[in-house]
Amino acid sequence: MASIQRYRASIPITPRERRVRDVYDRVDAATERELGRLRGEEGVVSNCKRGCCSCCGQHIQMNPAEAHALTQYIKRMFSMPQIRSLKRRTQQWLALDGIQRKGLSPVDRAGLSDNEPCCPLLVDCACSVYPVRPIICRTHFVSSDPSACRRAYREPSSEPAPIALMSILHVTQPLAKPLRADIEAAGIDYSRSIMLLPHWLAMEMSWEFPE
Ligand code: SF4
Ligand code: SF4
Repeated sequence: MASIQRYRASIPITPRERRVRDVYDRVDAATERELGRLRGEEGVVSNCKRGCCSCCGQHIQMNPAEAHALTQYIKRMFSMPQIRSLKRRTQQWLALDGIQRKGLSPVDRAGLSDNEPCCPLLVDCACSVYPVRPIICRTHFVSSDPSACRRAYREPSSEPAPIALMSILHVTQPLAKPLRADIEAAGIDYSRSIMLLPHWLAMEMSWEFPE
């Protein structure tokens, strides 16, 4: 076990990972500033808090740089049981998503997962990769009641949608440009490089699942 820990500790922070972490630091600082401005100038307060996780049922998209930073973190920080458990949740997510895309009924989906589909990285309603969660997760805040998210992301409903704090996206989007530049510098078409988070997990962790 000690040798595994030594191996993990020896996994270096890659230059790309460092660039992603730097962008995340700037995004977080800008988000905090904007939340403060909204509260002070417009009286708008976010209802988002730890333990509130319906939004993690959405499809999360990531670019290759973010996927690299996230999976490096997993390889460095997760124990083997945590990795096995994440692999199982990822497989469940991919199986359920595949079935939904084929348009099969909930009856056909029975037994695939104990819960409605949610991000495989969600554990006990908390993000297991919180320090390196993608920008889309770092910048998603709403001012509506959490029940609006539950209705929107978990249960089909005609009720009003959650009220997202769009100004946070506006102030943070430009800060992500270095990641795009990083990907394009590697000769990759940025738009076509975007994939869903569970697909990145399978690819970057070299997990192969039966079709
Ligand atoms: S977006 Fe909705 S579900 Fe997510 S933390 Fe905020 S209130 Fe909760
Ligand atoms: S990466 Fe974390 S915050 Fe983002 S959807 Fe997954 S569990 Fe939620």
